[in-house]
Amino acid sequence: MVHKHMIKKRKTKKVIQIPFRDLSVTSKELKTRLLRVTDKVLSHGRLIDGPEVQQFEEQIANYCGVDHCIGVSSGTDALYLALRSLGLGPGDQVITTPLSWIATLNAINMSGCEPIFVDIGEDLNMNPDLVEEAITARTKAIVPVHFTGKLCNMESINRIAERHNLFIVEDAAQSLGAMEKGRFAGSFGHVNSFSFNPMKVLPAYGEAGAVLTNDSCLKNKLKALRCPLTSTSLNFKIDTLQAAMMLVGMDYVEAIIARRIQIAKRYNKRLRGIVECPEISSGDCRQVFFDYVIKTPWRDELIEHLTSAGIETKIKHPVLMPNHTGYKHLKTKNLPVAEQLVGRILSLPANEKITDQDVDYVSEQIEKFHIRVGRDGKNQQ
Ligand SMILES: *Cc1c(COP(=O)(O)O)cnc(C)c1O
Repeated sequence: MVHKHMIKKRKTKKVIQIPFRDLSVTSKELKTRLLRVTDKVLSHGRLIDGPEVQQFEEQIANYCGVDHCIGVSSGTDALYLALRSLGLGPGDQVITTPLSWIATLNAINMSGCEPIFVDIGEDLNMNPDLVEEAITARTKAIVPVHFTGKLCNMESINRIAERHNLFIVEDAAQSLGAMEKGRFAGSFGHVNSFSFNPMKVLPAYGEAGAVLTNDSCLKNKLKALRCPLTSTSLNFKIDTLQAAMMLVGMDYVEAIIARRIQIAKRYNKRLRGIVECPEISSGDCRQVFFDYVIKTPWRDELIEHLTSAGIETKIKHPVLMPNHTGYKHLKTKNLPVAEQLVGRILSLPANEKITDQDVDYVSEQIEKFHIRVGRDGKNQQ
């Protein structure tokens, strides 16, 4: 006999099985170490400008192969301060990409500079072939964004900058550890910015960022701008606690990057031919897969299918920066590639916490969906 209470109620809301990103600290070892350094900082009490700040700055500078690192309050602040340290402001134009997290544009805008957008290529990064024609007498800097953790073509961009006497300010927020011919992200420009917000490859446990430069004059300016005693600025200091916790995190960065590359390769193997997959660099070039982005004309339908299979995905980003409501006043010329790709890109779960089985499950669901679409699509044509 079946009792009513024995019949399992069907859950109406689908539970997410594979989250896009899980920011909780799940490693016991990591948690123990984080708590230990937190305890240490709370005991010595130098919560602002403690010794860990300088240690952290030295480690980041060392890792990226740059002379100076100035820890700051966020990646947005880092880019803003980078532009200000160069003395850029109203009247100056800055060339950048339309496809980035809105913080890139916000920082340029807050510096007073006028953003000029150059279209992207299939790799989602600024197309260097289009940079030169965007240069005017007022252009002062190029802000390349290493989107998804893949370096822009820095050789070309450097050459153009040199020819036209422009500054390069890398927005390297997504690309700590990315390299080309042994040179690391954050070491190509005159002054470069990183974000360590909890989503980034090296996460803080709150907000943090850094500015990198080889120029000791700029370093001094940046320090003055971070904590103004002599210049007009605001407070952009990094917390000692964040620096201390990230010093621990530095020990895991290489493993995180290696795992992300492994995941990307596994996806590529299964998904190539079904959707457009990112190219994976090899040899002395390395991308860090801050995001693993596929392209498909069936993007919205695929999201729906994956959501109902318990897989969380993200569009990064659904709106090009110049099309955000706050920036409607900007005069932007056509950006045909960016406008097309922004409707096709989809970021899959690809952080270091997901397992091979997760990757296979996501791949299987994408295969399933495309078999169905192939069938229905043909019927419709
Ligand atoms: C995350 C990010 C930023 C901003 O960093 P915050 O630390 O969140 O302020 C800037 N640019 C890009 C490309 C980013 O991904």
